[in-house]
Amino acid sequence: MKKIGIIICHRYHTCAGGKCLRSMRHREGAFALYKGEEIELVGFTTCGGCPGGNVEYAPAEMKRNGAEVIHLATGLVVGYPPCPRLEAFCDFIPAKFGLEVVIGTHPIPENYFLTHQALGTWSSARWQDRIQNILPAREMRLAYD
Ligand code: SF4
Repeated sequence: MKKIGIIICHRYHTCAGGKCLRSMRHREGAFALYKGEEIELVGFTTCGGCPGGNVEYAPAEMKRNGAEVIHLATGLVVGYPPCPRLEAFCDFIPAKFGLEVVIGTHPIPENYFLTHQALGTWSSARWQDRIQNILPAREMRLAYD
């Protein structure tokens, strides 16, 4: 049983978590990492708004609930612009709390994919690495549009 916490970008703070929870259920997007494994969501919150002050505290609460992995939601990657603190969060959470970090939750939706393609947002090797778990084929991107 893998216990998971999700931190979303505060831009989407009214989000009810529909796509994240759906992709968890179907092991799609970053949750394909847990195919064949049981998973449990033990925390869900936002970063608290730029510059992401809640990241300093929320993982501790998730860890107390048993979290082993923190997923930084796909919104941090697909927003305009993507979160400028992504790297800092990826460094901070393991260093401070000893928790693994995975970038992304649900698959990237097609409309965000097309816009970021046009912008060249993800053209670097570093970005390709960051989105590797959440960039599926077009059919799946459309399913999450
Ligand atoms: S851009 Fe980053 S720091 Fe700002 S609200 Fe979104 S996740 Fe938080």
